[in-house]
Amino acid sequence: MIIIYHFGVNIQQYAKLGRGNLFPSIYGCKNCPYEGKLYRHGFYERGVITSSAYYRIPVLLLKCPVCGKTYSVMPDWLIPYFQYCYAIFVYIDIGIIKTVVF
Ligand SMILES: [Zn+2]
Repeated sequence: MIIIYHFGVNIQQYAKLGRGNLFPSIYGCKNCPYEGKLYRHGFYERGVITSSAYYRIPVLLLKCPVCGKTYSVMPDWLIPYFQYCYAIFVYIDIGIIKTVVF
């Protein structure tokens, strides 16, 4: 399951900070009645494509200690399951970018 979170930094800052970003503590599981803090379960790396660069960024994984459900904490400028950031789609919409290959 994906949790969208506002980190308060842009893509470049997030990529530079990497695992040093201020990751949130999330409470409560959406899959079971557990209301406590979800445990940190590591990171995975994913790519992000902007109009001018490509970044590899860490995504925090959380895990419910009761049911084992895992969560990805994604920055709000990422589109789940896509490597493109939201700005790319704005650029397409207003005509700055003409072609994107998905
Ligand atoms: Zn749970």
